[in-house]
Amino acid sequence: MLLITCPCCGVTAEETEFAPGGEAHLKRFGPGSSDADYESYMFNRKNPRGVHFERWRHAYGCGKWFLVARDTVTLEVFASYPAQTHRPPEEIVNKIKEKRPEWEGFA
Ligand SMILES: [Zn+2]
Repeated sequence: MLLITCPCCGVTAEETEFAPGGEAHLKRFGPGSSDADYESYMFNRKNPRGVHFERWRHAYGCGKWFLVARDTVTLEVFASYPAQTHRPPEEIVNKIKEKRPEWEGFA
């Protein structure tokens, strides 16, 4: 069971109140991009064992999208943060590195 805090409205709730939206921080490729880039954007996703960044929507709350950093093995939620970022905030990356020294960092 995940306990997620929505950074938009501040509510902390079980994951059933939220809807998962897949991997976060994807680089989008559209018209004019190569077939390989577009195919990779459309179909290839990371599926790490450990630290992962995901999109979530507060489906039964404020309805807004946000991002969550969590561990896929322990289900520990490190932090949630607004969706309007291209990379995880530095303080969240540092927090994860303290807890998971073996983690190679955000690529
Ligand atoms: Zn919310």
